[in-house]
Amino acid sequence: MPGPIQPELFPQIREAFRLYLRRRGIKDTQARRSILDIVLDFREHFEAEQVLYALKEAGRRVGKATVYRTLPLLVDAGILKEVRFGKKQAHYEQVYGQAPHDHMVCRRCGIIYEFDAEEVIALRHRIASQKRFHADGHRFQLVGLCEHCATAPPQV
Ligand SMILES: [Zn+2]
Ligand SMILES: [Zn+2]
Repeated sequence: MPGPIQPELFPQIREAFRLYLRRRGIKDTQARRSILDIVLDFREHFEAEQVLYALKEAGRRVGKATVYRTLPLLVDAGILKEVRFGKKQAHYEQVYGQAPHDHMVCRRCGIIYEFDAEEVIALRHRIASQKRFHADGHRFQLVGLCEHCATAPPQV
């Protein structure tokens, strides 16, 4: 799983988000700062509902619409990445200062393994360069069964 982000990086990340908002002419509100702080505390992949819940737990009053509007901004600012696991809704993870990785997802139990994306990135560059395409991202995910589910007897 990603992170944990070293707390020493937090001020740098907060500053990066502040600059991003300013460049876009978006207001740097307390609500957006609260969302960023909550998001920095997550250790695993998370979804918008978990952010809402954590904000409530922390006693911060931030509306659902603000959360749903701010998460894509954090993605655009390079702090989070959106990941999709099967048919589930969008999940997010921290990418700031993290080594790039991709995922494999067990379709039976839902366990998620991460793996180093170095080789995939090399492949991406090779394919893109054939069309002089400037690729800065990719979607690559292994789907199937984890070792346990592959050997477990079929459920009745
Ligand atoms: Zn991940
Ligand atoms: Zn499994």
